[in-house]
Amino acid sequence: MGEIPVFSQSGDALSKAHIAANFDDLHPPLNAQQASVQASRCLFCYEAPCVTACPTSIDIPKFIRQIATENKTGAARTILSANIMGGTCARACPTEILCEQKCVLETGEHEAVPIGHLQRHAVDHLLAQNAPHPFARAAATGKKIAVIGAGPAGLSCAHALALLGHEVTIFEARPKPGGLNEYGLAAYKMAHDFAAREVDFILGIGGIDMMYNKALGRDVKLADLREHYDAVFLGTGLGRPRALGIAGEDLDGVDDALGFIEEIRQADDLTQLDPGQNVVVIGGGNTAIDAAVQAKRLGARSVTLVYRRGPGQMGATGWEQELAATNGVVIEHWAKPVRLIGETVVHSIDFERTRLDGSKLVGTGEHFTLYADRVFKAVGQELIADGLSGIKCMSGKIVVDGTGQTSLPGVFAGGDCVASGEDLTVQAVADGKTAAAGIDAYLGETHG
Ligand SMILES: Cc1cc2nc3c(=O)[nH]c(=O)nc-3n(C[C@H](O)[C@H](O)[C@H](O)COP(=O)(O)OP(=O)(O)OC[C@H]3O[C@@H](n4cnc5c(N)ncnc54)[C@H](O)[C@@H]3O)c2cc1C
Ligand code: SF4
Repeated sequence: MGEIPVFSQSGDALSKAHIAANFDDLHPPLNAQQASVQASRCLFCYEAPCVTACPTSIDIPKFIRQIATENKTGAARTILSANIMGGTCARACPTEILCEQKCVLETGEHEAVPIGHLQRHAVDHLLAQNAPHPFARAAATGKKIAVIGAGPAGLSCAHALALLGHEVTIFEARPKPGGLNEYGLAAYKMAHDFAAREVDFILGIGGIDMMYNKALGRDVKLADLREHYDAVFLGTGLGRPRALGIAGEDLDGVDDALGFIEEIRQADDLTQLDPGQNVVVIGGGNTAIDAAVQAKRLGARSVTLVYRRGPGQMGATGWEQELAATNGVVIEHWAKPVRLIGETVVHSIDFERTRLDGSKLVGTGEHFTLYADRVFKAVGQELIADGLSGIKCMSGKIVVDGTGQTSLPGVFAGGDCVASGEDLTVQAVADGKTAAAGIDAYLGETHG
């Protein structure tokens, strides 16, 4: 689980050097010898289960064999031809529930081949070369596609469309590309400005125009895009953090976890950030774990994560829960916040214990108090539906068919904003690819 971080037991500020070390790569990259040893452990299975478990279907045995035969550039091409964000996915995929979980060695009670680390080894090698983009675009088709959102889904879709010879314009609400790769993933997963470097690499294919600070619903209208472009792809993610809906939510010191994480990711100097002394994080997913661990690594004295159900129901994987524990985060299960207490600034939270009554979660009537000068809310995000009128949504997500098309002809969608399954980077990349193929087929049918 990487280098041992340095914590502040007293709440005194950590030194600049300690904070820098705490936010460096969670896993140091494999060196050539380690990669060679690990690659040689792969059994190169026929019909490998790890490939089926990868949402982007990377030919894992092939790229590992290429690493084993010292063809790292070939390995990177194999990875990137299936997943253009292979670099981020190698760092951020919960491999323990995806490819590595299905590794035959793992199921045979040996340690799985570290597919993510090997993937990173190959992709980082190619990116470090600053060579021309490894893939060439097909002849120009003259077709124009508007992509909304420069997150993993939008960038993956744009890259696949550009490869097919189409012209793409990305409209991005923020001043920077990358979506949650740039603003959301934990800093120690995306060290050394990797998100920005990867976007530069992706755009190196050519044929993709970036329009920053342009939001659908505010600066551009869907009807206009449908008129001026041959197809539209929506990859807007889930923009709005959910509220707790309890008294005291407006007190100073109570913030959205995502805003805190974003502050960390965009900070020039992490020593200037104050995480608070006694921190409470409310939630049970990735965002909650990332906020809690980063608060501890910034120097908070105590961090408690409170989740209303048990460990098995947490959105965060077992590995993420273990990461929190090894970073000194205390996890309290089976409790829900009732009210946040303070005059103008939060000083404590009243919690009620919970239990299951059949499948229903109910309060037990037993209360306890946690003292906190900083509270982070991490109870999920929801779709901002501005500009999406006419598009069918269900349970707060856009409905798409198997090709990624929404209820409006020629309008496709993918990533967190659709109901495709997991809210994971690799799933967003897979959705972007599926929609690009769907758009290409649609253009063939409708425009000849
Ligand atoms: C804190 C946190 C940690 C996570 N950690 C992991 C992890 O470790 N591993 C993992 O696999 N997944 C992780 N995830 C999930 C992963 O980040 C998402 O599944 C993935 O980013 C979804 O990609 P997307 O392109 O659909 O959306 P996003 O990444 O949200 O990108 C959407 C883009 O659209 C833009 N946009 C939004 N609205 C508009 C508009 N109206 N007009 C124009 N542009 C717009 C946004 O600015 C953004 O750039 C994490 C998520 C969070 C919140
Ligand atoms: S993209 Fe993710 S799930 Fe797929 S092989 Fe790579 S690390 Fe595994």
